[in-house]
Amino acid sequence: MSDKHPTWGLHWFRRDLRVAGNPALQWSWKKHEGRVVGIFCFDSKFLARTDFSHNRFGFFLETLRELQEEMRSIGSDLLVVDSLPHEALPKIHAELKKTDRAFSTLSFNRDYEPFARERDDRITRILQEDLKVTVHTERDHLLIEPLEIGKPSSGGSLFYQVYSPFARRWFEQLKTEEVAGRVAIQKAGLKYLHKRAAGEIDRHLFCLNWKKLWGKSRSPFSESLEDFAQKNRPHQTVEIPAAGSLAALKRLQQFKRNVDHYGDRRDIPSLDGTSKMSLYLKNGSITSAQIIAELDLQNLTMKSEGGRAKFIKEIAWREFYYSILFHRPSVEKKAFLEKYADLPWENSQKLFEAWKEGRTGYPIVDAGMRQLKQEGWMHNRVRMIVASFLVKDLLIDWRWGENYFMKELLDGDLAPNNGGWQWAASTGCDPQPYFRIFNPELQGSRFDPDGTYVERYVPELAGVPKKLLHAPEKMGEAALKKRGYPLPVVIHHEQKEKALALFKSKS
Ligand SMILES: Cc1cc2nc3c(=O)[nH]c(=O)nc-3n(C[C@H](O)[C@H](O)[C@H](O)COP(=O)(O)OP(=O)(O)OC[C@H]3O[C@@H](n4cnc5c(N)ncnc54)[C@H](O)[C@@H]3O)c2cc1C
Repeated sequence: MSDKHPTWGLHWFRRDLRVAGNPALQWSWKKHEGRVVGIFCFDSKFLARTDFSHNRFGFFLETLRELQEEMRSIGSDLLVVDSLPHEALPKIHAELKKTDRAFSTLSFNRDYEPFARERDDRITRILQEDLKVTVHTERDHLLIEPLEIGKPSSGGSLFYQVYSPFARRWFEQLKTEEVAGRVAIQKAGLKYLHKRAAGEIDRHLFCLNWKKLWGKSRSPFSESLEDFAQKNRPHQTVEIPAAGSLAALKRLQQFKRNVDHYGDRRDIPSLDGTSKMSLYLKNGSITSAQIIAELDLQNLTMKSEGGRAKFIKEIAWREFYYSILFHRPSVEKKAFLEKYADLPWENSQKLFEAWKEGRTGYPIVDAGMRQLKQEGWMHNRVRMIVASFLVKDLLIDWRWGENYFMKELLDGDLAPNNGGWQWAASTGCDPQPYFRIFNPELQGSRFDPDGTYVERYVPELAGVPKKLLHAPEKMGEAALKKRGYPLPVVIHHEQKEKALALFKSKS
């Protein structure tokens, strides 16, 4: 670019949909003294996926809209295009080059999913080699990246396949100057966010927008955010929660008041005892580093106890599953444990439908599946129960459940979803052993002893005596029929034997 037009940076947003403490955006902002604009490229292939979710997409669009508003309010802009990045980015470069205004750098934060890694390599090649644009990437989505947490005995080349040693190492690294610094930096990002929450906006934080860039020439793109929103809205079936980084911060502050009780409350599905951060982590409205910074968790160790320690260990589980997906991308399609790649599932379509509809006759399972359908979210304890039930009681391939969860969950996220399913199905790394099979009646009695959760989602069982609530078939067929609630679709202890035989056949 000539002296007439100072250099500027293009920031490519993907799973980092926020301004606060966004490392690659910040790099570009510093380099170009605030002359940065953003782009988001839709991939329409994604809309055709079998696990596409209108609800999650709706939440995603709201997050983008929030980000666009924020970018505009601080002197920058976000262009949302219905075009693949390998088409959109060179097109923008070529158009603006005509007026000597092409961007000189492209910044983005790294993504670890198999598809994203391939896409990013391709874009980097095109921009660096063909267009001579500097591509700058940063770590953001994870506190510690998969390649940073290899086994020390292997010089880092081998990855942890069991959570406990992974977490021990993760906590050790958290104490290093380097990683502690990543958390400390996010305190500054949060400061900006707190100021924004208080309505203090710096309108001149950035100093470039798309209008200025296009000048008299016309943008080769039509704005697609509103179009997508219009087309998508009629298909949404759940209430879309408040989106964006301010909403994430608000929810986090609410959770902060109770974090010390997390250990006691996190397994009780009738309580609002967990953070609900998964919704915001997925799109990068907030990051694990920011959560740790806001809750002051950085000094905890693997040995620490109490609610705060329990909570940060869950954040480490998330990073563990990302590490597995990164090092073994094949888990996206098949079992981590080779020996269980071809288990002879029964795969009854009828039982699968009963599970999806929350009509299995097992109240805790049905309550969970109905919560999922009504709210696009399900409590972690219940996710474990319904997943175990699908696989080990209904003898259905875990991938059917994984796919259905992705369709329904607002927080649906490949790495933790795949990890959770393979854990429950005993096919994953560090899984539930195959012979540990949840008894849904006992799980219900233990984690929903007074039936509050079940009654909330299965109103047919309202008023059933507490001791029968998790085994209502004991009231007799006629009583159940009167209430419109089904008899159990399978008998747990019989299915358990079949599941054991199924796994033993391959062990
Ligand atoms: C079968 C199954 C499917 C799942 N699918 C998903 C999914 O698609 N997306 C998703 O984000 N999580 C998934 N999980 C993990 C977990 O259920 C959710 O992260 C959690 O319920 C989200 O609620 P929260 O944010 O209130 O969690 P909190 O209890 O407040 O935990 C804080 C954060 O820690 C992480 N976390 C908590 N539990 C786990 C876990 N078991 N595994 C990995 N990370 C965890 C999440 O990022 C979560 O937001 C799945 C678990 C199972 C058993």
